[in-house]
Amino acid sequence: MTLEPSVRLLRDFILEHPRLMVLTGAGISQSSGIPTYRDATGAWTSSQPIQHGEFLRDAAVRKRYWARSYKGWPNVASARPNSAHLALSQLEAQAYVQYLVTQNIDRLHQKAGHQRVIDLHGRLDQVVCMDCGEIAARADIQQWLAAHNSHLDHLSVTQRPDGDAEIEGAALEEMQLPSCVHCSGLIKPNVVFYGGSVDKKIISRVFEQLSQCDALLVVGSSLMVYSSYRFCKFAHDHDIPIVCINQGLTRADELLSLKVLLGCAETLKQLAESLPARG
Ligand SMILES: [Zn+2]
Repeated sequence: MTLEPSVRLLRDFILEHPRLMVLTGAGISQSSGIPTYRDATGAWTSSQPIQHGEFLRDAAVRKRYWARSYKGWPNVASARPNSAHLALSQLEAQAYVQYLVTQNIDRLHQKAGHQRVIDLHGRLDQVVCMDCGEIAARADIQQWLAAHNSHLDHLSVTQRPDGDAEIEGAALEEMQLPSCVHCSGLIKPNVVFYGGSVDKKIISRVFEQLSQCDALLVVGSSLMVYSSYRFCKFAHDHDIPIVCINQGLTRADELLSLKVLLGCAETLKQLAESLPARG
């Protein structure tokens, strides 16, 4: 098969560095109908996202979140993995991808059959009680919201990346908030909001896995948030080369050994088809 020149360079790089850690961001889920947070320059494409502290402190913020999430969740719940997720899963089966860390909260890597995935920023298909720690299914909360907030059904909305949606005004006043079925405590989607922190044990595990790999491959992320950029810094400090498939600028551009400025799906598909399975 004829490969794009930059894809051929990446394939040759992988043949020399076959044990990969892959780090994925919103760019990989875009063609599954989940829009990205940032445009090609790394600037925000939408209004500021929910802040962790405000969510816990302010019932009005929680009302806004759950109203938007009620409208946005069906889009995330029904999203299917695209050929980029499938190609990465194939590259795992071919023994190139040792570990995968994703900034995405949509579970599309798992839906694509990927085995070893760390959800760095949590998972949107769960909620967690901030008082007793109970985990519940987001789908159950959706049913509860539907039963208690039927007035939201008539509002039109715009989709946002975190299963969120823009909702205006007065409907929020009447909004009924869901709570923990065990202790009636405050529940939060089981994801890391801005201003929240990633579990330190998860970060240590990623560092440990990364040190066992030959290279770090970044896919569809601008690396603007420190929680993912730190892995590039770690790799760089430990002489682990970093390569990237991303159509826009990234915060780690000066650390990269190679960058492919093509779409994730076409590039990964060509890689998976052109790399021989490792024995
Ligand atoms: Zn609880």
